[in-house]
Amino acid sequence: MSTDDLLARHRAVLPNWINPLYAEPIELVSGAGCRVTDAAGRTYLDFFGGVLTTMIGYDIPEISDAVRAQLDKGIAHSSTLYLIRKQVELAEKIAKVSGIPDAKVFLANSGTEANDTALLLATQFRRSNQILAVRNSYHGRSFAALGVTGQRSWSATSLSPVNVSYLHSGDRLRGLLAGLSDAEYIARSVADLRELLATTTAGDVACLIAEPIQGVGGFVAPPDGYFKAIKEVLDEHGILWVSDEVQTGWGRTGEHFWGYQAHDAVPDMLTFAKGIGNGFTLGGVVARGEVMDCLSAISFNTFGGNPVSSSAGQAVLDYVLSHDLQANAARVGGLLHTGLRELNSPIVAEVRGRGLMLALELVRPGSLDPAPELAVKVLEETKANGLLVGKGGLYGNVIRMGPPLTLTEAEAKEGLDILAGALARAYEQATRA
Ligand code: PMP
Repeated sequence: MSTDDLLARHRAVLPNWINPLYAEPIELVSGAGCRVTDAAGRTYLDFFGGVLTTMIGYDIPEISDAVRAQLDKGIAHSSTLYLIRKQVELAEKIAKVSGIPDAKVFLANSGTEANDTALLLATQFRRSNQILAVRNSYHGRSFAALGVTGQRSWSATSLSPVNVSYLHSGDRLRGLLAGLSDAEYIARSVADLRELLATTTAGDVACLIAEPIQGVGGFVAPPDGYFKAIKEVLDEHGILWVSDEVQTGWGRTGEHFWGYQAHDAVPDMLTFAKGIGNGFTLGGVVARGEVMDCLSAISFNTFGGNPVSSSAGQAVLDYVLSHDLQANAARVGGLLHTGLRELNSPIVAEVRGRGLMLALELVRPGSLDPAPELAVKVLEETKANGLLVGKGGLYGNVIRMGPPLTLTEAEAKEGLDILAGALARAYEQATRA
């Protein structure tokens, strides 16, 4: 059956707000290492990993073996009504690496569910539905997670169950905080937060939810130390800090295991998903014990932390730690970052990101005008030449890269060459227009 048939059937039966990438969408049918193959037999180097989800690459025997061993026992699922050994073991491992004191772990199925749970805990703990979030953020697609998401194009509903005030995002190319130094940016943000708390919010705020590096928002980040300064203000009011590490966790940023660690401060909760399952549905929340245990009612999760996902999660975490993939992210990501800068493309206003989380901000030549049409061009050109990258940013003009943390130097170089060609052709298009 051709991909065309599949696309027609997809459009007929799935919601129109599920929108595959590319003028001619592709169906991935197999993968190995950092490469995937589509239904037409074309192979691509994968620099997006299904939005940073394929943390250690495709077809990794350690993961398949762990999952198969569990399946072979004939118990693929077991609700939280029963003890689940694999779940307890995984929670212990995650608590240990979380950096959160007195940590307890709730295992769920996705980033959305993780953030929804963190919001439930914060609002219950503080008995308030007032939340601080950040402009240009993305936290998931449930009613509450969408409610704190700060990007118009993803905000499918304005009928939010939470009462949200938005802080500025880390964008220093445009907007009110453009061009500020790190120290000025932090001072301005702290003053803004103080003003917001004094003038806009009514009574006790439950939490701040924020991504250390905004993922969907185009890998925009505040300066190092920002969250330490912000947390000092939050602490004066007893407001909790939730670090959404769905894209930044598990060593992806190279320098640190968690994104929050660039800020010399520790959150009250962190949420995770995507990479830890390497394809299996797994997400969750780490919280200080007193916050995690604040619910008085009993809760239940049919699939969260099931033995198969938990086996995968343990194998992935063990693999990341035993192969020191954080160091690989720093080294290979550093080379890629330097290579991207050295391309000196006139349509790239900024190369940003950390480790193997890198982005290109595309603009019309000689300006800071966002160029979403050039992002589409780069996406199509890279695909035509065997490389998958992502798109994002407030204006849809950011090329996002998040390859598996196992990416080799040779693969980074190969991807860089394809990107160089794609950027050159996008520049040609921009100057022709
Ligand atoms: N938080 C962040 C930072 C994300 O990038 C995403 C997914 N793009 C989510 C939450 C939601 O995760 P999921 O798609 O697994 O529900």
